[in-house]
Amino acid sequence: MQTFTWIFLAALFLSTLVQFWLSIRQAKHVAKYRDAVPAEFADKITLEEHQKAADYTLTKGAFGRVETFISLFILLFWLYGGGLNWLDNYVRSLGLSAIYTGVAVILGFAFISGILGIPASLYRTFVIEEKFGFNKMTLKTFFVDMLKGTVLGLVLGTPLLALILWLMGTAGDLWWIYAWAALSVFSLFMMWTYPKFIAPIFNKFKPLEEGETLQRIQSLLTRSGFNSNGVFVMDGSKRSSHGNAYFTGFGKNKRIVFFDTLLESLSPQQIEAVLAHELGHFKHKHVLKGLIVSLTTTFIGFAVLAWLMKQDWFYAGLGVEHPSTYMALLLFMLASPAFTFLLGPIMSWWSRKHEFEADAFAAKQSSAKELISSLVSLYRENASTLTPDPLYSAFYDSHPPASIRIAHLKQQMA
Ligand SMILES: [Zn+2]
Repeated sequence: MQTFTWIFLAALFLSTLVQFWLSIRQAKHVAKYRDAVPAEFADKITLEEHQKAADYTLTKGAFGRVETFISLFILLFWLYGGGLNWLDNYVRSLGLSAIYTGVAVILGFAFISGILGIPASLYRTFVIEEKFGFNKMTLKTFFVDMLKGTVLGLVLGTPLLALILWLMGTAGDLWWIYAWAALSVFSLFMMWTYPKFIAPIFNKFKPLEEGETLQRIQSLLTRSGFNSNGVFVMDGSKRSSHGNAYFTGFGKNKRIVFFDTLLESLSPQQIEAVLAHELGHFKHKHVLKGLIVSLTTTFIGFAVLAWLMKQDWFYAGLGVEHPSTYMALLLFMLASPAFTFLLGPIMSWWSRKHEFEADAFAAKQSSAKELISSLVSLYRENASTLTPDPLYSAFYDSHPPASIRIAHLKQQMA
């Protein structure tokens, strides 16, 4: 066996082991605290709601472990079980040009992976979400969404993929800089077009109606000096009763979007506080910083790929017979998560730092008290656990655990 095979398998098994270990820790911790609502929430969350959150977390965690295990097997099948070689040899036998062969192999891979992912996705939506009363989707919506997503992916993704493969094959040693530039322009274009053209393919958006909520929002926007291209309500209730609020787009194309489910469960004051938090992300330039980090990571990723592409051991070590540009791209996407896995906690920590900053902004511009009550309400409505395992939370959570977050907000009130 190749040295690189050993290195890759060690990284893969280690990262899978860590995922399992963290997931088990989380399950034990949540189960341990299932029978009593944490004291600080005792007057706001009932024992029944607390236990629902615990059971929901445990059910999702258990299924997540099954999925991790299945994905590991599928990955090993693609690499060492001959899956990729079979697909590659089959497409090669069709005698297409180099670029079409590459596009066909990658699309073929994406198609088969998509099909293999359907049962898990169905189970998550129609068994788990259904059982806890969150699912509002019909089978028809599920498959129509999938069809729309596939068509959109093909229409937007295929030309980009063909361009990148063409650059890899013909643009010389610096191909990766051009490819990175092309991907960056494409991503920015997508961010810009998403609110107006992509999101409406899946959901209906209508401007928020006149009333106390809109007045509060407009006065908050004015006093914090923020311009947006409108406040919209999205029919999130078509798919799920989980609530959310977000910002999309950039420049003049910014939109504030509230899920209809969120508007139903919060008071106008609470909605104002939630929006103030979102504004905090913009004021602290979190979106821009995130964009810079993502552009930098893809730049490094492409540089590494350009080097790996020329190494025969890279293909052989991952079980592939014929080196090619498209196979390098595909193998890089399949193998890199095993090595970049440990970057996850750094990104989570960074994200939690941003959440604290946005909360502090909301406390100043709106009200810490209202934000706390809306957070508690969101935790209740979404059945999110109040008692995560500290290590699991440090590794994965983009948002600080409820009790720590609320403690920080209370400090701002004093
Ligand atoms: Zn946030």
